[in-house]
Amino acid sequence: MEGSTLALQLKDTVRGQVFANEPMWRHTSFRIGGPADVLVVPEDISDLMTLIKSLSDLQTSFHIMGAGTNLLVKDQGIRGVVVKIASTLSHINRLGDGILRCGAGALLPSVCRNAAAMGLAGLEFAGGIPGTVGGAVAMNAAAFGGVMADLVDTAEVITYDGRQIRLDRENLDPGTKTTRILAEPLILTEVDFALRRDQPERVQERMQKYLKERTYRQPLSLPSAGCAFKNPTGKGAGRFIDAAGLKGFKVGSAEVSRLHANFIVNNGGATCEDVISLMKHVQEVVYSKFQVMLEPEVRILGG
Ligand SMILES: Cc1cc2nc3c(=O)[nH]c(=O)nc-3n(C[C@H](O)[C@H](O)[C@H](O)COP(=O)(O)OP(=O)(O)OC[C@H]3O[C@@H](n4cnc5c(N)ncnc54)[C@H](O)[C@@H]3O)c2cc1C
Repeated sequence: MEGSTLALQLKDTVRGQVFANEPMWRHTSFRIGGPADVLVVPEDISDLMTLIKSLSDLQTSFHIMGAGTNLLVKDQGIRGVVVKIASTLSHINRLGDGILRCGAGALLPSVCRNAAAMGLAGLEFAGGIPGTVGGAVAMNAAAFGGVMADLVDTAEVITYDGRQIRLDRENLDPGTKTTRILAEPLILTEVDFALRRDQPERVQERMQKYLKERTYRQPLSLPSAGCAFKNPTGKGAGRFIDAAGLKGFKVGSAEVSRLHANFIVNNGGATCEDVISLMKHVQEVVYSKFQVMLEPEVRILGG
């Protein structure tokens, strides 16, 4: 079904925002990506449930996204519906016993600032990860030795056929930058984090230290999707890319960052094709020099 026709149908059932033929570069930190047939931002959990049911009735395929900080969207765009859970389902509430309950659409920097102000420790490492709670838990985001799945007490998910389930940490099947949520896939709607009590100033101080380190380790002023490749066991992917002499290597407007070799940056007007060609080149050169096959960390969508 054509984007505008599908969008009109969904506007009849969904309370949230519905956009037809929506350029995805507007919704990704890479600033890359052609149009999605339809992009929907559901207003709340019941709106999301209604949307999933309608999409199933219409037999329309859909993709879930958060803040788009780990996505590379194809230049041809995305057929079907993109469901964006960011800045919606974004509650942050403290429950008893160090539990912080967060909606999947809450942004991590805000969650971490709130946790620090409440004197809840554990999430300091994530204060500079620009995505949502949903994206970070689904991807099992990690930094400075901290890993998201380690802090999850329970997570509420919806199956693609519309059933609501609460999973505990063991049932998330966390791996390197993946969980059961991506593998099945499932839709994450809410997470309870199990945190430790500490002095707010001490939590704040640790978080600031990590935030500062990012400013001189990562190319934060240019569009990117964070690390392009997963770290092979025992060594950072960036070390291999740097040792292969690839810092500053370009395809079109996509460039291997000179500051952090595992970041690919968009110097302005880069296409998805540029980034994919550059990633292939990096994989080939690193493999030929070190016999290590780098695996993409960025999630490629569409086409
Ligand atoms: C400057 C910069 C620094 C970064 N630093 C780090 C870092 O230190 N550590 C790190 O791990 N990552 C880092 N990242 C990558 C990225 O921020 C994280 O992976 C983040 O967790 C992705 O969240 P998101 O909401 O943007 O997800 P998206 O990019 O929108 O989606 C990522 C994946 O998660 C899935 N997903 C998103 N929300 C949900 C949901 N509610 N339910 C089910 N699936 C969902 C999507 O389908 C997709 O497969 C960085 C990125 C940038 C741009």
